[in-house]
Amino acid sequence: MVNDAELAVHSIVLEDPPLNFDSQPKVNKQLVVFDFDWTFADQDTDRWVHEVLSPRLRIEFVKRKPTMQFTDMCAYLLQELHKEGHSRAEVEDALRRMPLHPAMIRGVRTLQAKSTPNTDFLLLSNSNQVYIDTILEHNHLLDPPLFKEVITNPAHFEPSGLLRLRRRIAPDQVQHACKVGCSANMCKGDELKAFLNRHTTESYERIIYVGDGGNDYCPVLRLNKNDMALVRRHRGLAKRILEEGQVQCNVRYWSGAWEAEQWLEVLAAC
Ligand SMILES: [Mg+2]
Ligand SMILES: [Zn+2]
Repeated sequence: MVNDAELAVHSIVLEDPPLNFDSQPKVNKQLVVFDFDWTFADQDTDRWVHEVLSPRLRIEFVKRKPTMQFTDMCAYLLQELHKEGHSRAEVEDALRRMPLHPAMIRGVRTLQAKSTPNTDFLLLSNSNQVYIDTILEHNHLLDPPLFKEVITNPAHFEPSGLLRLRRRIAPDQVQHACKVGCSANMCKGDELKAFLNRHTTESYERIIYVGDGGNDYCPVLRLNKNDMALVRRHRGLAKRILEEGQVQCNVRYWSGAWEAEQWLEVLAAC
C-alpha cells in the first residue's frame, strides 16, 4: 500500500500516478481557492519574466533571495530589468508566453459551468496584479470572470515602462502577526479569513484550497474537517504537511494539471 503523503514528497516524478479521485460529499455552496504560481499556472511568474528577458537577473534572483524580503527583491529586480532597457511590451509578451496548462483552464471552466452559482473561485497569490491580469486576460479568463476576487501584491506600469511593484502590506502599515512563516508582504491565512468575513452571506459549506508552496501551508492550517486541500506533489506545501502536520482538512495530491482537472470534475459532481 502506497503512503500518499510520503509519495507526495519523496517520489520521483510520477508520470503515471495512482488514480484515486474519490467522490466528495454534496454541498450547497463551495469556495475554490487557487494559488497562482506552479498551481493555477504551470510556472512561476516572478522567475519566468527574468528567465525570458534577462538571464543575469534570474541569477541575481537566486543570489539575493536568502537575504531580501521576497516582494522587495522582486520590485528591485524589476527596476534592474527596466535599467537594462526592457520595455513594458516585452514584459507583457513574456507573460503571455508563460505556460498555463489547457487541462487547468478546462477544469475550472467546466466546474464553473456545471455549478454556477454553487461554486465561487478566489485567487490568492504572492505574485502581482499586473502579472496575473495579463495572463488571465490572455487566456480569456476575465470575460466572463472566473475569479470572484484576486488577492495579490499591487503593481502598475509607470509611463517610463517600469513595472512598479509593492507589498500588499506596506512596510509602514500595521504588519501581520502570523507565526506560521508567511512573508512580511502578506499572510495568506489572514487574507483567506478576511475574504470569508467579507462574504459571510455566501455560507460556504466547503473550502477547497489548491496550492503547492510553503506559503500555502498557513491558509491550509485554517481549514476544518469539511474542507479539502488539493496539494501539488514534490513541492513546499506537501513537504510542510508531511513534516509539520497539524492539518485538519482532507488532503489529496496531484502532480500534473490533468490530475487537478480530475479533482475539479469530482467537485463539479457534488
Ligand atoms: Mg505557488
Ligand atoms: Zn500566515
